[in-house]
Amino acid sequence: MGSRTYAQELDALIIGAGFSGVYQLKRLRDEGYSAKIVEAGDNYGGVWYWNRYPGARVDSHAPHYQFSDPELWKDFHWSQRFPDHVELRRYFEHVAEKWDLRKDTYFNTFVTSAVWDEAAQKWIVTAKDGRVFRATFFLPHTGIAASRAFPDWKGRDRFRGVQLHSSFWPHAEPDWKGKRIAVIGTGSTGVQMSHALSEGAGELVVFQRTPALPLRMRQVDYGAGEEPVAKEELGDFFRRRGEGPWGFDFGLLPRRTFDDDGAARRATLEALWRAGDFTYWIGNYSDTLFDLAANREVYDFWRDKTRARLHDERLRRLLAPQDPPYPFGCKRVPLEQGYFEMFNQPNVHLVDVNETPVVEITEAGIRTTEKEWEFDIIILATGFDAVTGGLTQIDIRGVGGETVREKFARDGPTTYYGLSVAGFPNMFFSYGPQSPSAFCNGPTCAELQGEWIVGIINHVRDAGLASVVPDEASERAWAAQVNAIAESTLIPRAKSWYMGDGIPGKRRASLMFLGGLTNYMTELKSCAAEGYTGFRFEIPKVQTASA
Ligand code: FAD
Repeated sequence: MGSRTYAQELDALIIGAGFSGVYQLKRLRDEGYSAKIVEAGDNYGGVWYWNRYPGARVDSHAPHYQFSDPELWKDFHWSQRFPDHVELRRYFEHVAEKWDLRKDTYFNTFVTSAVWDEAAQKWIVTAKDGRVFRATFFLPHTGIAASRAFPDWKGRDRFRGVQLHSSFWPHAEPDWKGKRIAVIGTGSTGVQMSHALSEGAGELVVFQRTPALPLRMRQVDYGAGEEPVAKEELGDFFRRRGEGPWGFDFGLLPRRTFDDDGAARRATLEALWRAGDFTYWIGNYSDTLFDLAANREVYDFWRDKTRARLHDERLRRLLAPQDPPYPFGCKRVPLEQGYFEMFNQPNVHLVDVNETPVVEITEAGIRTTEKEWEFDIIILATGFDAVTGGLTQIDIRGVGGETVREKFARDGPTTYYGLSVAGFPNMFFSYGPQSPSAFCNGPTCAELQGEWIVGIINHVRDAGLASVVPDEASERAWAAQVNAIAESTLIPRAKSWYMGDGIPGKRRASLMFLGGLTNYMTELKSCAAEGYTGFRFEIPKVQTASA
């Protein structure tokens, strides 16, 4: 590489100051490594730094969505069962202070490339501002939402009003009260945001392609001294969280839908529905995500509950159709706090873009085949190039110079354990493709995967090795297992970002390991216990002059 000076020479360079990156920094420093985080934003929080739109809040109920370190939870108080983005950033401030993170974080630093230097057995990582880092381990904890998706509608640059993407929400809250607002998209973000905006907007028009099938959130406020779980029980709670199938302290019921007779089944569904949060989804009968007849029972119950909340037959048809638009729970299930009642308000309208497709964006608003709607603000709640986009938008070059982007385009999103990629030595990530990620509570995954990554890095160090990389055959076997499990479920029957849908040119494949966190962790632990099966290790090459 010739002689070159680096902004930093490190054991590990971590991308991302969300749950995954922050946990990784803390644990690697504990083990004596030199490590730094580089982060595109100007503070901690990851998705909660970026997603600060009205109504943005986490759907993992307290106290799940936090780290398990007693140093952190012993004096932190959550004010709500489902904390909002403001509280989550307050939490990250607390973490940054307690774990003394700031001295090892570079903010406003977007990584554009990472190249494996085979001779030096190191990564050369370059930021947009030209700074170059060299590190033995490259840990791109870029998350599932680092690359935003935009609709390819004609005329998007023509609109004279304000146009926003939900995930690039301005730090200074835009003045939206009393304004005419369009929200494009009805995923979790669209559902949260529309409801929040409906309370002050002059007129709100929601553009829907596919109905969301959201569940009641059942928010709870906690006063001073009130805790969702008593502090003295939290240690035990976090252990149970890590043993649950989804990173929560609950899982699917231990019986199938038709094990119960009709009356018992209705009583069970009613109780699950009343509980709020994700219980009705991933705490339901064990076969609901596997068996169409079982899934239909769950859908029909949800549909009837929902229809009763809507005043208009057209709204019922579009928002809670008689037949399921896709199997229930096979797209991310949003949580809502009045989403359906909102459509009964006179200032809220629903446009079904299947009935009246968008023709173009105009100077004044959006023209559909029916009419031109005029707006002051258009908000794109159109999501992300989810899960893989954070990795593929960086020019990551491994052995032989192939990029992750090229490899995923050729083979689909193949990884080993959702943590590493063949051909890319000393590179590990959490919450990535083919791991439980979106089917796992975020902080649970950040800790469990982060800890495993620390283990393999320690193994390299303690054995005097220089690099580790998964072999192609093991990676293929993992990808095949991930896809086989997905095919045994109903998930592929819906078009969703879980399957890579909606992004032009993206290969359709399961981006999730759907076998549950418990089985996933069993695999990871046995891989480590058997000396990291499926990985190849290299000893240091003869030292060349410092590169
Ligand atoms: P992130 O929090 O996404 O952090 C990644 C960081 O990497 C970002 O700050 C980003 O700026 C940075 N980054 C990426 N690429 C680069 C680059 N090239 N250079 C520099 N920096 C870069 N999970 C749940 O468990 N429950 C929920 O209810 C829930 N709700 C969610 C709601 C939304 C709107 C979104 C988008 C996600 C939600 N998630 C939820 C998933 C969430 O991603 C995880 O809970 C958790 O945030 C993952 O943390 P992370 O550190 O892996 O990734």
